[in-house]
Amino acid sequence: MQNFEIAVFEGDGIGPEIMRPTLDILSKLSSAASGYNLTFSIVPAGAAHYAKSGESFPEHSMDVARRASAILLSAMGLPDIRYPDGTEISPQIDIRKRLDLFAGVRPVRVHAATLSPLTIPNGKEIDFVLIRESTEGLFYSQGCGEVEENEARETLRITRDVSQKLFQFAFALAAQRKSQGRGRGHVTCVDKANVFRAFAFFREMFDAEAARHPELTSDHAYVDAMALWMVQRPWDFDVLVTENMFGDILSDLGAGIMGGLGVAPSADIGLEHAVFQPCHGSAPDIAGQGLANPFAMILSAAMMLDWLGVTHDHSGLLADGARLQAAVDHVLARGDVLTRDLGGAAGTEDAAQAVMAALDAG
Ligand code: ATP
Ligand code: MG
Repeated sequence: MQNFEIAVFEGDGIGPEIMRPTLDILSKLSSAASGYNLTFSIVPAGAAHYAKSGESFPEHSMDVARRASAILLSAMGLPDIRYPDGTEISPQIDIRKRLDLFAGVRPVRVHAATLSPLTIPNGKEIDFVLIRESTEGLFYSQGCGEVEENEARETLRITRDVSQKLFQFAFALAAQRKSQGRGRGHVTCVDKANVFRAFAFFREMFDAEAARHPELTSDHAYVDAMALWMVQRPWDFDVLVTENMFGDILSDLGAGIMGGLGVAPSADIGLEHAVFQPCHGSAPDIAGQGLANPFAMILSAAMMLDWLGVTHDHSGLLADGARLQAAVDHVLARGDVLTRDLGGAAGTEDAAQAVMAALDAG
């Protein structure tokens, strides 16, 4: 029996409402003789905590996160509570920097064809992963761009160190997916190497990593063409890896393909730590009404089980990650318990109960 401590940031707005049922589901799985046990340490951070205490990210919370095996988080921030320095740098961005989480992992998987705005041809499946570099690129000068009266400048920064780690991660993920029977062991570098020398540099390091993996295949695509292809033939892709800003934009396109932010999970992963959180924000407009869609949060938790399983070589965790994902897919495909944002009438609790029931049945 292996023990894992999970640091939990419940977030603001709908955050706690979607986190609680997710923890219930995880507790249920981990007690089911799968060879692991999860303990949850709920730690404060975010806008509501700042309003109460004058502190948005207590050092103790950071310590718990650093010590934990993995971190679950739902979005922080409330429209009427701003941090004192006026910036929107919130703990969820801070934590990425402080734990060196360079790879933003956004699976683009259509859980139920009825939710996607695209028509998927028979025999095709949309199941690829977008990896977004998350610490530099065009976000490097975030908040520190130079603005003069008639001119403004920002910096695009690509470093060898981060790019190498990013590409190693991308190829390892492609290999893992291939071994799980998903994808064909193919990685595509998405850049703009025809215009920017920084991206030619990016591509060079990608090619060097590709050469270390003769068992996998690779190619390149320009980001503008990729935006077109993601709509025209998204079933052709396996692992895409790209710069920060390009990844930011393409991941919203990916969420659109899946059926919206309500079914889009994500992870921010480094060499030693990882944070799992839904792509959507804190949705203050519907908070406290029991209406929030918990599916993206639950899918993020499934990604956490999968990542823990891979990094600890634990088959029980891997199996439960797959089970949980399948249970959500089952509920979404059946379509009778959908939340309002997905066109249904179910509340948070009904949706979570449906996933529980699917786990019991499956
Ligand atoms: P942020 O700046 O935190 O990213 P945002 O402005 O992008 O916030 P969200 O909080 O993601 O906004 O909400 C955008 C819209 O989507 C809102 O109308 C919100 O109610 C809805 N929404 C977001 N997440 C969910 C969810 N899990 N369930 C239902 N509706 C949601
Ligand atoms: Mg947003």
